[in-house]
This record gives sequence, C-alpha cells and structure tokens, in this order.
Amino acid sequence: MIEIKPAQVTLNSICKCGSKDLIFGEIIWQGQHVCVDIICKKCNKNFLQNIPIGQSLLETRLVDKGTKSVYKLDWQPSKDAWLNKPLLSILTPVKDDILINVQINTHYKKIIILNCLEFVYGHALLVLLNLQRIIKLNSNSTLGIVVIIQPMFKWMLAQEGIAEIWTINTSFKQMTYYNECLNISIHKELQRFEQVFLSHGHLIPTNTPINIQEFTKIPPFNFDIPPTRPRVTFIWRQDPGRIWIRNIYILKGFEKLGFKKILLPFHYLRIVTLFFFLKKEFGDRFIYTVAGFGKWMLFPKFITDVRTNDFNDDTERFLCQIYSESQLIIGVHGSSMILPSAHAGMCISLMPSKRWGNFAEDILFSPSETDARVGAFQKRIIPINLCIFDIIDICINMLKGRMYFLQKFKHSNEL
Ligand SMILES: [Zn+2]
Repeated sequence: MIEIKPAQVTLNSICKCGSKDLIFGEIIWQGQHVCVDIICKKCNKNFLQNIPIGQSLLETRLVDKGTKSVYKLDWQPSKDAWLNKPLLSILTPVKDDILINVQINTHYKKIIILNCLEFVYGHALLVLLNLQRIIKLNSNSTLGIVVIIQPMFKWMLAQEGIAEIWTINTSFKQMTYYNECLNISIHKELQRFEQVFLSHGHLIPTNTPINIQEFTKIPPFNFDIPPTRPRVTFIWRQDPGRIWIRNIYILKGFEKLGFKKILLPFHYLRIVTLFFFLKKEFGDRFIYTVAGFGKWMLFPKFITDVRTNDFNDDTERFLCQIYSESQLIIGVHGSSMILPSAHAGMCISLMPSKRWGNFAEDILFSPSETDARVGAFQKRIIPINLCIFDIIDICINMLKGRMYFLQKFKHSNEL
C-alpha cells in the first residue's frame, strides 16, 4: 500500500533531464488513474505520474504538461491510446456535477482505499475482488477499509469488514475523461482522516482462489450436490472482437463492413451447432442455455435463452444463479467470463488470436480446486480458431469424463 496522507507521496520518478531532484505536489483523482503533480527542481519541467495501483501497477506513465504527451517511465512515447486518453484528459478537465454517496459503517481515522473506478468493466471487477485478500490481511482492523466503486458493483459488496463505501454515480464512458468535481469531492472526503493509504488493487486479485459466494452470495456449482438437470451455458456477446469467429483477419476486415449482417450469423450458427451436437450426445440430461449481453436473433426451442439487454442488480443476481447451475460454461475470452467461471462447475474460455497476453485474466479458480490437475481439467483456455468439432469433443469429454479423470489420482494415505 502507498501512503498518500499525511506523508507526501514520493514516487521513483526521474525527469526527462535525468534529475531525481523533484517536488511532489498535489494528488489528482482522474478515476482509474490517481496521479501526482511533479516539478523538476533542475529544469522546471512539470509532469504527472500515475500512482502504481490497478492497471497503473503494470503501466506506469508520465504526462508532460508542456508537450501534452504521455510517456513511459524512460520517457519513450507511450503508444497505448486506451491508456493515454484518460491520462491526457487531466489536462482538459470537465466540471460535470457528480453524485457521491458516502456510506459509513464504522468510523476510522486511518484508512486504506481500494479504488475500483475504471472504464473497463472487467478491470473494475477484478480490483474489487482484492477485498477478499485485503479484509483477511486486515482482520485485526488496524485500518478502516474504504471502497470507491461505481453503482453497478455495489450489490457485490459485503458490509462486514468494510468501513466505508463511496459510490460514485458515473458510467464507464465517463471514466475515460477527467471530471474536476470528482477530484474535489474525493479530496473533501479525505479531510476527515489522519492517515490514508492507497491499496495497490492488483488486476489478478489474489494468489489464492476467490470464494465468489462472499461477493455474490450465490454458492458456486457443487459437483457433490448437483442440480437435477444441470445447465450447459454459452456466454453470449455481440460486440466485435468477442464473437466466435476463427480468423482474426476476417473479423477485423468485417468489423465495420457488414459486421451484423455477415459475422453475427456465423457466431450464432456456431453456438446452435455446439448445442445441437451436445443435445445429440446427452439428450435432456442438461438444460442448454445461452446467457449474456445482447438479444440478437431467437434461438431454437431446445436452447433456453436468458440473455438480457438490461443489466441491473436483479439481472446480475439472476445470471449468477444461472452460472451456478451450469456444469459447464463456454464463452469467448473477456470480462464477461469472470463471474461465469467463478460460479460454474467447469468452463472453457475461447481465446482469440493476439489476446494471449491476457491469459487467464478472465478465469477465476474455485477454492475446491485444490489439486492443480483438477483446476487444469475444469478451467480451460483454448484457441478460438480450433475446429468446432474439436471444441465439441472437448466439451463432451469434460462433461462425460470428469469422474473418470478424478479417479486417476484420488489416492488414499495407505501404503
Ligand atoms: Zn528536469
């Protein structure tokens, strides 16, 4: 954790001129980026640096206020537009009214803040899941835990172990720019405390499996007491880059040109084909379900369609219940797989080409997967460009072969 009050934040920064003789000034809350204003004593250069929390732990950046450009720590230009945009927005603030709801459960003078503000849904969710680790490590309550979140995540917060919840009424899109009112409001709240730390908020939240029930209050799929008719569920998305298309170049080519007319039918047909062959193999043993965001096209009657266009607390809970009834969940890699993988018995994440740098970020392992081989069997990441019949074969084997696989290494302590 990083102390931001009363001690002045000092970062491991070097000015472009090579000097380390720097004045660290005010803290600026953009949203996901919490930056420090820095002035070089030698050359007077004025720049910002993001404090290493969340995504900034991996991508620390400098914003030169003079050239209005973003740099890496070695002052090489940052070419990551998705990262640069919110950082550069600090130089052109807006002043939109912003509603902050402060819920105080316990009064503390010393706090640690978990900042879950983000413009990427999956990143915000993963940072939020850090609470499992933080609450456990802070079990003697030396610090009050303050969580800053967007409204759509509040339903997942347990009250126990959390001192305060600051809910910022803002959208993901609004988190791509800098609202000065947000910065002022957070600084105003900070005045109440003697000492304030920022949690690093890692994007891989813990080194141990997440007990998802502590967040959603919905127990994950239990192989010992399965539902009478478990589900096999596909997680539907219909945004470019997250559909079941094997060739990334075809996907890119058609992304703008006729995307819905040409590519979505292929995505749809693959899902129907998958379920057709699973039903042929298993009959009515499973409820074949499609869940997720977007309602393009109707599915055949043998597929239960619980997709939605409207995500709110109730639909989120309902969908988590669907995930928890699923023996197997299949979907394209991405943030939409985080909660499904945490609740389902098993899952397959279809990894598109050029995305392998995000390996396993969308998969949450279960505390019951104590043996690495069980985890490897139950949570699979496979290339999306595999032939559909190979993918069907993997699904059938996972659904039919789990018990046999487990028998191979269930040893007693007998000699
Ligand atoms: Zn300098």
